Amino acid sequence: MPEHDPTHADRLSAYQRARAAEQAARDDAVRVVERWNAALAVGRGALWSPTIRAAILAGMPWLDVYCPGCRTCRALDVRTIDRHPLASVGSLVLGLRCSWCGGAAPMPTIAGLHALPPSAIAKSVPLAGG
Ligand SMILES: [Zn+2]
Repeated sequence: MPEHDPTHADRLSAYQRARAAEQAARDDAVRVVERWNAALAVGRGALWSPTIRAAILAGMPWLDVYCPGCRTCRALDVRTIDRHPLASVGSLVLGLRCSWCGGAAPMPTIAGLHALPPSAIAKSVPLAGG
């Protein structure tokens, strides 16, 4: 009777379970972020926002922030922000001030989460003059 090696088989299935759970978490995160981006696009994003963890898991860590004062958009990399991963990305604008507008800066608004900084996406698209 050949000796069975349960350790190896157990480890393999544990690995596969972990991989599957990881993939499921990523899929969930992508759905959450996409739902939020869609809600923002139709002006319904103010009720909730994804967590920093969801943004990173979804592979969309670039938070597009809009300053109503000078009408510019800037991208924030949520991976570089020292906050709890379960903090919502919406809470990141609290205390955030546009450096161009200085002390009179209004609170920025959030325009969405992206895989790449919007400036990289829109590199060839000139900004509309106001
Ligand atoms: Zn500004």
